[in-house]
Amino acid sequence: MDELSDGIKRLTVLPLAGFIVICLMLTYWQVVAAPRLEDAEENNRAERMRRRVQPGRLLTSDGLTILDARDTEEGWERVYADTEAFCHLTGYNPRSGLQKTLSDVFYAQNAYSHAWEDIVQGRPVGNDIALTIDGRLQQLAHRLMRGRRGAVIAMEPQSGALLVLYSAPAYDPVAITRSEEDYNVFTYDPEKPEINRPLQGMYPPGSVLKIFTAAAAIDAGISDPGAKLHCAGAERVAGTLVRCRRSGGHGTLTLRRALADSCNIAFAKLGNELGPDRFRRYVKGFHLLDAAKLPLPTSTGRMADFKGFKGEMQLAEASFGQGATLLTPMSIARLTATIARGGEVVQPFIVADVRTAGGRVIRQGEGRVLGRAISTETVQAVAGMMRSVVEEGTGSVADIAGLEVAAKTGSAQNPAGDPHAWFTCFAPAGNPSVVVTVIVENGGSGSGVAGPVAVAILRAALE
Ligand SMILES: [Zn+2]
Repeated sequence: MDELSDGIKRLTVLPLAGFIVICLMLTYWQVVAAPRLEDAEENNRAERMRRRVQPGRLLTSDGLTILDARDTEEGWERVYADTEAFCHLTGYNPRSGLQKTLSDVFYAQNAYSHAWEDIVQGRPVGNDIALTIDGRLQQLAHRLMRGRRGAVIAMEPQSGALLVLYSAPAYDPVAITRSEEDYNVFTYDPEKPEINRPLQGMYPPGSVLKIFTAAAAIDAGISDPGAKLHCAGAERVAGTLVRCRRSGGHGTLTLRRALADSCNIAFAKLGNELGPDRFRRYVKGFHLLDAAKLPLPTSTGRMADFKGFKGEMQLAEASFGQGATLLTPMSIARLTATIARGGEVVQPFIVADVRTAGGRVIRQGEGRVLGRAISTETVQAVAGMMRSVVEEGTGSVADIAGLEVAAKTGSAQNPAGDPHAWFTCFAPAGNPSVVVTVIVENGGSGSGVAGPVAVAILRAALE
């Protein structure tokens, strides 16, 4: 009997085990593997489409073709020109850079399709994309940043059109995809060339953020360029020890002088006087932490919330751009542009227009005004103070005959070594047409290292 019941048990256990195995396998294919398989299917479909359609070109505003296409036996293939200067814009394959985010435009899919024109052309052809980027300036940024890490941004403050969006170190999209080994070297490079620093790099802004604190304090009516502050060289402000770049201190100084000679203590005190609520309100008004809406991956900024027992200390530190504050170079460029364009915040843009192969413009880019951050009176006061930075302060590198530049320097302390060098500026000061923002990672002095790069770009842009 026992033997029999054992046999019956075995008979029931075996199918049960089989059933469980089948269930597990079904679960695996349906739940675990299915998204991956769908992705593969999607990739295959996209790949087939890419081979069949002649993709549009990517052009700079001065007519350089930075991404082209050639017909091969296996279908259409991408061709890169002047690879390194434009690598973070073109990307290195269909899953990176603008090739990824503007794929529908390049291949005339969905909202960008034009079936009739394809019939007229006799074959499917994508759309050309003209960028606002000035190829000559972008190439200059590439040359100036050779051997450095950092970012260069130039934009027109009135329209929001980006003229330069450059990230260093650059890479060669062709060389890194030549073999798996080349690609691995690129991916694991400790200098992280894949990061597009102007939009994704998160940096302590240091003293360039004093533009913001000065603007907020003046706009809120608690200070003006002639207001007196005091600096003893090293002081406790709201429980945190603040050191000034002048170890002996500035003594009594005006707000104008505090910005021109970049006094941390004066700004720590000013921020605390402004208080957390008003400080936060201006952060919002300037869209300081917001990511710029561009067709490339962009980081949002970070700042302490100024709440709890550390709140006052955090506020004092944020007022001169240190502590927990981390911003992208684009945030600083936009802050500078807000002063340059009279107090309104603009949404920058990079696509000038989209054209069909037949030359019909089907989309045009434009900057959008997001709102007013500060009054025009405040702008005048801050712009005048930024002019003093150049004429009698830390920004003398931009004191050029025949051109009035308004600027702010920064040397931002960070845990990764020497301070990051910042320089942000606009010109001509009376009627600004170009904003330039530069950061050189671990560059040390803002005026000495980032300043000359910014001035060279500014000069070339205004030629
Ligand atoms: Zn000082």
